[in-house]
Amino acid sequence: MGSLGPTSKSKVSPRDIDAIKQLLAGTSATVVTPDDSGYHDTIKRWSMAASKPAGVSILPTTADEVAKVVKYASENNLDLAVKGGGHSTAGASSTDGGLLFDLGKMRKVTFDKEREVLVIGGGANWGDVDEEAYKFGYATVGGTVMDTGVGGLTLGGGYGWLSGQYGLVIDNLLEVELVLASGEIIRASKTQNPDLFWALSGAGQNFGVATEFVLQAKKLENTEVWAGMLVYPPAPGILEKLVTAVNNLYMIDPETGKTKVNGKGGGGLGFARPPDAGGATMILTPVIYFGTKDEAETVYKELIDIGPVANTTTMVPYPTINNLLAPPYGLRASMKGAAFELPIRPEFAQKNFDEYTKFMDANPDAGISMLLWELFDPAKINELDHGCFANRGLHFNGMICPIWTDPKNDQTCRLWAREMNEMWKKELEEHSSKEVGGGGEAPASVVGKKRATQFYGNYDHYDERSRDILGRIMENYRA
Ligand SMILES: Cc1cc2nc3c(=O)[nH]c(=O)nc-3n(C[C@H](O)[C@H](O)[C@H](O)COP(=O)(O)OP(=O)(O)OC[C@H]3O[C@@H](n4cnc5c(N)ncnc54)[C@H](O)[C@@H]3O)c2cc1C
Repeated sequence: MGSLGPTSKSKVSPRDIDAIKQLLAGTSATVVTPDDSGYHDTIKRWSMAASKPAGVSILPTTADEVAKVVKYASENNLDLAVKGGGHSTAGASSTDGGLLFDLGKMRKVTFDKEREVLVIGGGANWGDVDEEAYKFGYATVGGTVMDTGVGGLTLGGGYGWLSGQYGLVIDNLLEVELVLASGEIIRASKTQNPDLFWALSGAGQNFGVATEFVLQAKKLENTEVWAGMLVYPPAPGILEKLVTAVNNLYMIDPETGKTKVNGKGGGGLGFARPPDAGGATMILTPVIYFGTKDEAETVYKELIDIGPVANTTTMVPYPTINNLLAPPYGLRASMKGAAFELPIRPEFAQKNFDEYTKFMDANPDAGISMLLWELFDPAKINELDHGCFANRGLHFNGMICPIWTDPKNDQTCRLWAREMNEMWKKELEEHSSKEVGGGGEAPASVVGKKRATQFYGNYDHYDERSRDILGRIMENYRA
């Protein structure tokens, strides 16, 4: 399902639309054609560069409605795409002329207090989940941006601010309700269809339409979290000091096996051009700490002592932290991920600063683009081993994210993201400690304990091959 490129599947015809309307007559599902009002909302995406004109959009409300239409689409060889939160920048949740499921009417989340689980509709986003869980003082591992979909993020592995304590989203996934291409509705868990459950946990965006997820909820020790942004000027020596500080915070001490943030802290190191910075590239360190203000300020003292020009840190309700780094929905964007290991080399950070600044100077339309080394304690993710997620290891993801508005700039901005991605790959090849890169013929063919691949499939690796994203998983199947 989904259509990333040219497909042998057919576009929908007026006859198909009539047939689907008949199939769904008397149900609560909505069928929206390109002439109907509301159609544009169904094809809107986080990055409008990933939007495509669907032949028809279906907004189902139940798994049964999904099943009827999936069966029809399979029997009639129709191209079919599924949209959860719409954050894929590769167009994986869009179809050109095919049939689109917009799961926006399946966003219900309920908290089962007895089992301490969250039952989540297939079209919910992380804001929906946070809101419901927080009413009861709970949360679960979810994305760091609230309008990202539970569907795509979970099926691809998923990590967020709670990953330092509880691992990936799939490590907390208990059950999935899935509509298969045949139209059959099944449930997958460790005891029901366990093979499929394993595959859904990390490579699951192609196995069917997930209409419900059940996730383990965690009681929050403190319902408020210390969070905010430290902003530094690009003054001489500052970047090097910041690189040293984040290396100290997030590197595992070989003696204790722990990081200084000890599972409770996360954030990153990045570059942006805030509107009030007069066109200067500023250095940002978003910071999150699950603890009191005093504890947090002790842990993050080295960063604070460097002297940020702005410090927005404060105690906030848990859901607020998933709004700290939220680029607006509906512009044009590309998101390339790039694996990296600690320590970050100051020379490499400086090179990125220079490249980012050059790109921003040359492309004023891309003024809110970001570049970020995402950081948290990787020990828990590395310790666990559920599912077929092949990117699990002691490494991190860099996020290269040009954001622009004019379609004329699509090529330039995407090219920059690709070039930066190549630069990060080269850095990994030349300086890797052999943890990352066991992805078959992936360029950095070094093999670590987990044989983690370099690529996190959820960070649109539209230029990469499945075998390099799935690594050892594909090898096992070939063997
Ligand atoms: C601003 C931003 C922030 C992000 N933050 C994080 C983060 O903190 N952690 C992280 O791990 N990743 C993050 N990502 C990456 C994110 O995990 C992927 O982009 C993911 O695919 C988004 O899922 P979605 O449902 O929003 O996207 P969509 O574009 O709707 O879907 C992406 C893919 O998943 C499929 N899909 C979606 N829902 C379903 C479903 N119910 N059943 C079957 N298939 C489905 C779609 O068909 C498509 O193939 C972020 C991305 C962006 C743009």
